[in-house]
Amino acid sequence: MTDVTKIHEEKETLTVDVNIPGHEPRKTTSLFERTRKELIARDGGRCFICNATAEESGHPLEAHHHPIERSFAEMIDWERFKFDAQAGVWGEAIKAFDWDHFTDWTQFVDDMTVNGMLLCKAHHIGKDEGMHALPFPIWIAQKYGKEGYQFSAAEVIHHAV
Ligand SMILES: [Zn+2]
Ligand SMILES: [Zn+2]
Repeated sequence: MTDVTKIHEEKETLTVDVNIPGHEPRKTTSLFERTRKELIARDGGRCFICNATAEESGHPLEAHHHPIERSFAEMIDWERFKFDAQAGVWGEAIKAFDWDHFTDWTQFVDDMTVNGMLLCKAHHIGKDEGMHALPFPIWIAQKYGKEGYQFSAAEVIHHAV
């Protein structure tokens, strides 16, 4: 083989231009606070990507709204989402959500036991590491990356467990 591509740096200039719907002022709801703690208890308090605990990562773990970002909740056609949710497209927890009593999107969006993903600060918002800073195909590679791989200037792949 002569056409092997060696490790190379890829620089992407990602310009994003989408319309975020008008929304009520953001506030941290009691539902969010309560279910964030439940999510930490359920998932063992570890980052989805690197398995680090809050102590290991050096910051409190952050609950990312997933799959529905809070700022987009008001443009979502919830009947379409509910259809997929009940079909199991988004996993068991979302399928088991109380869809029969679903009347307002905040019931789902701020419930971190269904719409929450625990991330360390770096894998949430960090440059060249974070969910909010990288395209998904690049971001998710970190979860399954080989231990010790130099992923970016900021990060050598390390799985806490
Ligand atoms: Zn992490
Ligand atoms: Zn987030």
